[in-house]
Amino acid sequence: MAVEQIPDIVDLVVVGGGNAALCAALAAREHGASVLVLECAPEAARGGNSRFTAGAMRVAYSGVSDLARLMPDLTDEEKRNTDFGEYGQDRFYDDLCRVTQYRTDPRLAEIMVTRSFDTLMWMRENKVRFNPIYGRQAFKISGKFTFWGGLTVEAWGGGPGLIDALYSAAAEDGIAIGYRSRAIELICDDRGVEGVVARIDGRTARISAKSVVLASGGFEANAEWRARYLGPKWDLAKVRGTRFNTGDGIRMALEIGAMPHGNWSGCHAVGWDRNAPEFGDLAVGDGYQKHSYPFGIMVNALGRRFVDEGADFRNFTYAKYGRAILEQPEQFAWQIFDAKVTHLLRDEYRIKAVTKATADTLEALARKLEGVDAGGFLAEVDAYNQHAQTQNPFNPNIRDGRSTRGLAIEKSNWANRIDTPPFEAFAVTCGITFTFGGLKIDENARVINTDGVPIEGLYAAGELVGGLFYFNYPGGTGLTSGSVFGRIAGDSAARFAASTGHQR
Ligand SMILES: Cc1cc2nc3c(=O)[nH]c(=O)nc-3n(C[C@H](O)[C@H](O)[C@H](O)COP(=O)(O)OP(=O)(O)OC[C@H]3O[C@@H](n4cnc5c(N)ncnc54)[C@H](O)[C@@H]3O)c2cc1C
Repeated sequence: MAVEQIPDIVDLVVVGGGNAALCAALAAREHGASVLVLECAPEAARGGNSRFTAGAMRVAYSGVSDLARLMPDLTDEEKRNTDFGEYGQDRFYDDLCRVTQYRTDPRLAEIMVTRSFDTLMWMRENKVRFNPIYGRQAFKISGKFTFWGGLTVEAWGGGPGLIDALYSAAAEDGIAIGYRSRAIELICDDRGVEGVVARIDGRTARISAKSVVLASGGFEANAEWRARYLGPKWDLAKVRGTRFNTGDGIRMALEIGAMPHGNWSGCHAVGWDRNAPEFGDLAVGDGYQKHSYPFGIMVNALGRRFVDEGADFRNFTYAKYGRAILEQPEQFAWQIFDAKVTHLLRDEYRIKAVTKATADTLEALARKLEGVDAGGFLAEVDAYNQHAQTQNPFNPNIRDGRSTRGLAIEKSNWANRIDTPPFEAFAVTCGITFTFGGLKIDENARVINTDGVPIEGLYAAGELVGGLFYFNYPGGTGLTSGSVFGRIAGDSAARFAASTGHQR
């Protein structure tokens, strides 16, 4: 939409163009509100971090009958050959509490968990299709796929499929979308928020609105804010996703008195290819991540292990191990696997743009691990192999208890000895996904100010909401949070716009 076509008066402005923003826009349109979405990226790069995802969404379900409602295309054969288990609301809630060390805001957590299934069903009405994540969340044992880790569903077509579906639904619903449209300021008076100032194709525009939904992501793509809030060295992390999430929505809201909330020094960060570009590449998507470390070991420049690679299913550790890698000398690590497990490595290990070394002996491998002390590495593998207890059978579908005993840093599950050539190694650094700190919202997604009072006309959803995630994160929850609170924000903002009855 050219700058001249951008309406200067609407019921509702949504700032952002990812999953949370589109869910807010679609929910608001259901009330008949006129909606303008401002996406600062050009059309070809629209969709924020949501577009970079695999589309994995954590959802509470009570068994295969629920899943069949969500995914009516499930075949009888798939139902017969798969153990989908169940993932009840209690388990989802418990997982979220456990990995956030019981700091998650119980009110927001409960809303997200209890409304997750219903929200995904609503997304189906808005053109999003789902399928089981066979490739990443289930291993076939004795002829049957078994899902593990509470993550069973992905959007069809991954992140790109999710975003295309939502934009297509938005177009059908008559939602106006401005690309290259960066919101820079909230227009606000004593009554509350009245619109936004935006830079659209290089020109400044004032857009009046009865309510505004902020859904413009966190500050992960802002190196200066990362160093300021996350701490030293975070300016050196690679950004896994969009370059456009620079904290604008958070800044604009703080400028008019919003309450900062949540884990401002925390973020989601993973092991990411050491030679990946500074920002995400849409052609590669999430392929630079390397998430199969529970089946091997990770060593730093000294050749030493530094985390319990098998502490839990990777869903519950991957989001905090990026930080652990950043804290190592020169901010890198190598993941090491032997031939017993390479068939279990995820697809991302087989992409072209991968930093990899292979060898038939550990000594030869040691010479190929760039930046690593070879002697230290060989001594570490030797100690690890000697302490690996192999009486429990290896089983990737459960926490198998096959562990080391007697090491300074134990490996709690999946602790095979590393002794079967060929050996494979992959170099990773820290890739930041999104930041945890943000704005405080209430159960209607209204933004709360520093006096604890909602700011009239201002709503927020997605990554820029603080209070849900602390220290760590259960995989697949970012999209679910954006969808649940995006829908609530759009719904509340449209109701508010209708109730004010006048263009302010
Ligand atoms: C590589 C990768 C893989 C991931 N995989 C998963 C996964 O499988 N499952 C999962 O649940 N989560 C995953 N995540 C996390 C997930 O992407 C986020 O939690 C979620 O997408 C956040 O949605 P959002 O709508 O809040 O933000 P985004 O999707 O990032 O959208 C923010 C939008 O705001 C726009 N914007 C920013 N500033 C402005 C401004 N001033 N004016 C206008 N627009 C602005 C941006 O351009 C963008 O369109 C992954 C993230 C990455 C990077």
